[in-house]
Amino acid sequence: MLVKVHTCGVCRTDLHVLDGDLSEPKLPLILGHQIVGEVVGLGAEVVRFRLGQRIGIPWLGYTDGTCRYCLRGQENLCDHPQFTGYTLDGGYAEYAVADLRYCFPMPESYSDLAAAPLLCAGLIGYRTYRLAGEHVERLGIYGFGAAGHIIAQVAAYQGKKVYAFTRPGDADTQAFAKRLGAYWAGGSDEMPPDKLDAALVLAPVGALMVAALKAVAKGGAVVSGGIHMTDIPSFPYHLLWEERTIRSVANLTRQDGDEFLALAPKVPVKTEVTPYRLEDANQALDDLRSGKLDGAAVLTI
Ligand SMILES: [Zn+2]
Ligand SMILES: [Zn+2]
Repeated sequence: MLVKVHTCGVCRTDLHVLDGDLSEPKLPLILGHQIVGEVVGLGAEVVRFRLGQRIGIPWLGYTDGTCRYCLRGQENLCDHPQFTGYTLDGGYAEYAVADLRYCFPMPESYSDLAAAPLLCAGLIGYRTYRLAGEHVERLGIYGFGAAGHIIAQVAAYQGKKVYAFTRPGDADTQAFAKRLGAYWAGGSDEMPPDKLDAALVLAPVGALMVAALKAVAKGGAVVSGGIHMTDIPSFPYHLLWEERTIRSVANLTRQDGDEFLALAPKVPVKTEVTPYRLEDANQALDDLRSGKLDGAAVLTI
């Protein structure tokens, strides 16, 4: 499909691509993998979408459908994937081309601006949250940015107590987390008042994995949602003992997308968005890097 881009979310992964932390980009490359736009051109056999329809283009842009991961329902781990804004051109642009099999219709209750962060911060945040396990009553979220602020709302909606961990001393973001339904908010150097059943680490800081391990109870899971992270410091085995686990999340499946985009309007998830013009994309990236943003940066085109 040829898509006229309306908005494109700015994601920390864009910084990792830009900085060379992710080492195999297509070059030259257009960044951006949270694209909301309108279908303006369709291949001859397309029936799933129509001209003029609003759609979303996420990070997962292609899978082979034939490798052992795809065949067992783990297309997020496909051996021959393509990723929007990394190995395929993305949405920091006026137009984008996408394989419609990986695109989503977008829930109508969201504006173009508000919808963009659902596509990665929301989708991959949701997968991270889901992999934390089903029996979670107390959920820690380390790193309260684009993904954290979305998942906190989903978790609170599902009756979980959310413990939000921000940069030490960041009272503004802690207040923001409370407004979104967090039960407790504090610095990542603090211990929560209760042991957690699981913790999501949504900032690219390896030391947070250890901080989170210290805060989870027996049987608890620590799940990293990021694609890149600084080294995880060594830690004593007793922090992991009693069946605690640490794991990562990679990419998304289309099923994650369908589930999350159906759930978000029911909560309803409200996305906190800072808009930038396309020509100010570098400023948006700088502001994300320096932690100046509450919520998500979105380019409007
Ligand atoms: Zn992303
Ligand atoms: Zn595959």
